Amino acid sequence: DTLASQVAAGEVVDRPASVIKELVENSLDAGAKTVRVEIRRGGISLMKVTDDGCGMSREDASLALLRHATSKLACTEDLFHITQLGFRGEALPSIASISRLRLATRRHEEVEGTEILCEGGDQTPPRDAGTAPGTTIEISDLFYNTPARRKFLKSEETEAGHIEHQFKLHALAFPGVRFMFTRDGQTVYDAVATTDMRQRIADFAGRTQADRLIAILPAEGPGISITGYLLPLSEARRNRRQQYIFLNRRPIDDKLVTRAIRDGFGGFPTGLHPALYLYIEMDPALVDVNVHPAKREVRFRRPGDLVAAIIEAVGNTLSAHAR
Ligand code: ADP
Ligand code: MG
Repeated sequence: DTLASQVAAGEVVDRPASVIKELVENSLDAGAKTVRVEIRRGGISLMKVTDDGCGMSREDASLALLRHATSKLACTEDLFHITQLGFRGEALPSIASISRLRLATRRHEEVEGTEILCEGGDQTPPRDAGTAPGTTIEISDLFYNTPARRKFLKSEETEAGHIEHQFKLHALAFPGVRFMFTRDGQTVYDAVATTDMRQRIADFAGRTQADRLIAILPAEGPGISITGYLLPLSEARRNRRQQYIFLNRRPIDDKLVTRAIRDGFGGFPTGLHPALYLYIEMDPALVDVNVHPAKREVRFRRPGDLVAAIIEAVGNTLSAHAR
């Protein structure tokens, strides 16, 4: 089964940032109000995610490291009604098969916590551990047993950059959750929980940019609602580092959406990227996120409705601002 997990790991984990993605998604699915991410040496020597979510019973903790032991889906029909971020039960076993992993967890109602160590997929028997309510997962030496994959890692600086970007995506999607990020012992971000989206954006983009953002005039379509912030085209940049698009709080990178945004702006040259924080909420029945575990593609049941709503939201906001 370790081999099957390593094969699955090839799909799920292509670099340290994808481990962070999976671990933080699990923390959010567990209802965490605080998520702390710590990395060392670009995540290659250590990645640690600590949350105050529901925690796991001893039995669930052992199961969590086995393939397809997800507790999140009752039946396959539910695949079209996914509101939770994880649903395949593949991430943790995959990660465990290509790293050294330590899991410590405690449910709030239990006195004693559980610790499990795992090396290349082989678990030690669970033992008692004094630990705060919630879950901590520590990954060290990613790819230590798959040298061919390890060779493809970029510099620590580059990998840390990818992790930081992934962290921001999570934090921008869930402003109601406190997100902390520590890199090589230094706290880089501590974004406190807020209901004010602009505050959360300010934590990452800075107060000055956040204050200048224009609130998007909310637009609706059948089963669709659009909100967010933008800056006019005159302040567009040549990189996409100020552009964030979420569908039901998952970051997406979708051609259809990108094109609709451009149309909403009335067109602009390729290579230019207006500052934009776009939050699409959509009836889960209208969208299939089950395309690929690690990719940001989506399939829409009624793409035309979404395109129309985006064009309306962006277009109306810009023309109201120009007046
Ligand atoms: P999935 O998220 O697709 O269910 P994962 O492999 O990511 O599968 O996780 C396996 C299971 O482990 C989850 O279904 C969940 O029950 C449990 N789990 C993982 N991480 C956490 C966490 N941070 N808090 C509570 N439970 C967790
Ligand atoms: Mg998961």
